[in-house]
Amino acid sequence: MSIQTETLSFDPDALALKYRQERDKRVRVDGNDQYQEVVGEFAYFVEDPYIQDALQREPMLDEVEVVIIGGGFGGLLAAARLREAGIHDFRIIEKGGDFGGTWYWNRYPGASCDIESYVYFPLLEKTQFVPKQKYTNAPETLEYCREIAAHYALYENAMLQTEVRATDWDEDLGRWIVSTNRQDAIKARFVVHSNGPLNRPKLPAIKGINEFKGHTFHTSRWDYHYTGGNALGNLENLADKRVAVIGTGATAVQCVPHLGAAAKALYVFQRTPSSIDVRNNQPTDPTWMASQKPGWQDDRRRNFESIMTGAVVKEDLVSDGWTEAFRLLFGSIRDKAPSKLRLLGWAVTGLADKKRYQLGLKQYLTDKAAAHMDLTRALELADFQKMEKVRARADSVVEDPETAEALKPYYRQFCKRPCFHDEYLPTFNRPNVTLVNTDGRGLDQITETGIVFDGVSYEVDCIIFATGFEVGTDYSRRAGYQITGRDGMTISEKWSKGLSTFHGMHTRGFPNAFFFGPAQSAFTATYTYSLDENSIHLAHILSQAKARGCERIEASAAAEQQWVETIIEKARLTAEFQSQCTPGYYNNEGHVNVNPQNNTYGGGPIEFFALMKKWRSKGDLQGLELG
Ligand code: NDP
Repeated sequence: MSIQTETLSFDPDALALKYRQERDKRVRVDGNDQYQEVVGEFAYFVEDPYIQDALQREPMLDEVEVVIIGGGFGGLLAAARLREAGIHDFRIIEKGGDFGGTWYWNRYPGASCDIESYVYFPLLEKTQFVPKQKYTNAPETLEYCREIAAHYALYENAMLQTEVRATDWDEDLGRWIVSTNRQDAIKARFVVHSNGPLNRPKLPAIKGINEFKGHTFHTSRWDYHYTGGNALGNLENLADKRVAVIGTGATAVQCVPHLGAAAKALYVFQRTPSSIDVRNNQPTDPTWMASQKPGWQDDRRRNFESIMTGAVVKEDLVSDGWTEAFRLLFGSIRDKAPSKLRLLGWAVTGLADKKRYQLGLKQYLTDKAAAHMDLTRALELADFQKMEKVRARADSVVEDPETAEALKPYYRQFCKRPCFHDEYLPTFNRPNVTLVNTDGRGLDQITETGIVFDGVSYEVDCIIFATGFEVGTDYSRRAGYQITGRDGMTISEKWSKGLSTFHGMHTRGFPNAFFFGPAQSAFTATYTYSLDENSIHLAHILSQAKARGCERIEASAAAEQQWVETIIEKARLTAEFQSQCTPGYYNNEGHVNVNPQNNTYGGGPIEFFALMKKWRSKGDLQGLELG
């Protein structure tokens, strides 16, 4: 399918200009520094509101083979895959009161995952769990995390309500010393860092942010004592409250409908609107689930992520808003790719005729450059078309034309996390709900009694920060603990000028430490898929180490250097796209490629997984020094 510009219902050049203007007015010189870290007087924003019985126990000073830091899906999968590989001497340390990670913390009303549950919930074939709906919600996801933990008997290996403070490599012992807030000092041969890429809430560093005298919290620590209700809604305590929510990302999109339904008055402070596509949730058909053949889940998630990387597949198994968007995008360009067969033909004839080969190659490169321009244009047009539909939805749902216009996103769909929701836009038709469109600027000030924007003061009882999580700040700041490796070098020092890893998982100077992605490894929309691949990789390496009787694993300097170069090279593939996007955590707040190695693998997840599988199949752990 190709797009004829003369049949378009919009002016692509005018739209391109509008996108650029919307982007330019949002790029700030302070980038990530525009946010306030949740420390000191802001530390209460990250206290655990969900713990019912505070744990009391003696410090643990023993030794285990493997410590896994983090009890979210990453930690659960790591432990599950280790169990399957016959490695049982491990301990999972988790700061929350239970397993769940992201899903332990994010219990805000409406919290849910818009990646299909049959691909998002890992290990379904092992646990035989049947999600209730195509798109699950937070309570069921938390329940499923507990189900995995029970299935693999992981509670017996868990240290909950325990926060790691430091991990220090002891060269003489050949062990990590893992210290916690409970005075534990556990020796471990191997440490797996699976602390979550979006785990540390961030606040905007707005003037007066510490002056508000009303109630306030971040969405990832929802205060149900204050609001009433639960993750399914019914926030009955808000009936006499004026509430402000700051931010309109994927989290706000899910909680705003519940706030709008419950609060006396709701003010939604928007800097950039999200793209809100159709969700259309459906109950699971248990007979369909039961009829699936062994291996179905791996096929399904691979099929889903393959479509997202533009690969040709026989069938779209998931068939939803995500895959439709990618099918439209990549369907429009298939006929424009330069033929590799032609290049092969030239190469073969070139063996016999050098001049003909050189002419052919020149022609191929010209074709390729033209095709690249064609491809870029076709992709842009397909994206415009898709986003025109998204924008039209705002017009058709939202009654007030000015509010509808303000809710329209003017950027390419995958510049920011696309949202799929059927109740968010109608919320703005409620008489008690006001959209405060800051048009890219953000708020001006917070006062003792409310929020000021553009000279107007909005008096509120409660401010809810739906302002997301730190990405791109120092690793140890986000993890909440420092990692000190060989010769006293810290991970903050090692990565101060840019990430440096082998396969995203190992970094030289930190023997026996394993890092779970997505940095310098795969980024999948189905994040649990990447974590599962990380876990399979980890279990392979530790099984190999055990089989060879080796006690020490460290990336070689050469292998690490080569991997960093690969990441930099592949980052070029996405840099052009990212640099045109409106700022956000996807593109380092608009400052693309400050450190090109601080990227995920630019060749896409399916290519990365295949590369790792090939590496494993060789069986020689190439690139790792073993001792
Ligand atoms: P995001 O980082 O996506 O959104 C933060 C929001 O806060 C943005 O709208 C941002 O505006 C706004 N903001 C930041 N600073 C200010 C300011 N000074 N004034 C006004 N607004 C401000 O965080 P979320 O918690 O929404 O989502 C994080 C990620 O979690 C998602 O990207 C997604 O990966 C995941 N998630 C997935 C869900 C799902 O499956 N449906 C649901 C929820 C989360 P701006 O855009 O201008 O920066």
